[in-house]
Amino acid sequence: MAPSTVTPQMYHSAFTTTLDTLLHDRTQSNSALRERAQLHLAVLDRPQVASYTLPDLDPCLEITAKRVFIAMYQVGDEFHKPASARFVSAGICACAEVIATSSGWHHELHALTSDERLVEALNQLAMDLLTDLRCPFIRSRKFRPEDEAQWLELQRVVVKRDHHLCLLCGRLIWDGPAGDCVKYACHARTDRPCGGRIFQRSILEPDEPNTVHERSYFTLRRYCGLNETSLDVFSPRNTLLLHDPALKAFSHFLWSLKATAKADQYRVVVFAPDHNLGMKYPSVVTFKPHNKHPEDHLPEEILELPSPELLLVHAMFGSVLEYSGCRNALIRPNVILNLPNCDSGGTALAQRLSHMWSIAGLRQHVMKFARKLGRLS
Ligand SMILES: [Zn+2]
Repeated sequence: MAPSTVTPQMYHSAFTTTLDTLLHDRTQSNSALRERAQLHLAVLDRPQVASYTLPDLDPCLEITAKRVFIAMYQVGDEFHKPASARFVSAGICACAEVIATSSGWHHELHALTSDERLVEALNQLAMDLLTDLRCPFIRSRKFRPEDEAQWLELQRVVVKRDHHLCLLCGRLIWDGPAGDCVKYACHARTDRPCGGRIFQRSILEPDEPNTVHERSYFTLRRYCGLNETSLDVFSPRNTLLLHDPALKAFSHFLWSLKATAKADQYRVVVFAPDHNLGMKYPSVVTFKPHNKHPEDHLPEEILELPSPELLLVHAMFGSVLEYSGCRNALIRPNVILNLPNCDSGGTALAQRLSHMWSIAGLRQHVMKFARKLGRLS
């Protein structure tokens, strides 16, 4: 995703205090709080407001605040995280409480009636939560020369850590075009090995502009259960080793990794099969840590596997994007071309199209055309 320099303001303290009070209020069960939240959300079903779409998103996609809240609930339930679902309930109830009692809401409200004000505030909250969840995956500045050097060193480490193998297809990372995850057309297709970052921003580095902002961290801690208190973005635990297109698809939330009960094993969750035609996904992948023998003298960083917490945030946000229908609005994975599936009889056509769209193919076509012109003149 492109660099962004916008830093949203932290939520108003009236809202955060009310939200945290509700989160920890033992007298209200998860289901009781959820019922209260549903009553507030009912205001969004009224015929005159039911078609309101989120203000910053393409109205054609019909993304409403209610779709976002329902998606966030669904993800909490699916990941067996009752605290996540409770956070959504507490957020909705806190929003309703503060706009009813004080001016503690952090946006200006223009609506006049109390119901209209609630509709306006819930729309703002849904958009804010999406922004918070998306924050770790947007760079806030371009690479600096010193970043480049760090990045190259990190690539060297993760190539060694992952035994020179692409996590997704298990083929040698140097065999780009032969890798199973490189068999679909993509204008970014290359044969380069790629160390892919999970988070594009570090965590809690106040002097560094490329860090997850305070408001996002507030939401990530509560909704995703993120406990990481620091993260160097250039660290092995923030890095996966993948062929280029697989990394592109990962950063576009077309697939994600969901932890299984087995240590270091993840289920591969494919969100958008239509965008991935021709791409083969294994059902599970397993990180294979090096055995630590003192005589090996392996540097500590080679033993550092990708952080399950960071992967969880990626998987939860990817699921929210999927269920709310927001992916095309926020991520725009349009560089991944839809092509016939290589496994269903469309192999030849897919390969031809793939070749035409690759840089090398395009160059050949241009040269052929130039030769024709030369013969004619
Ligand atoms: Zn691969």
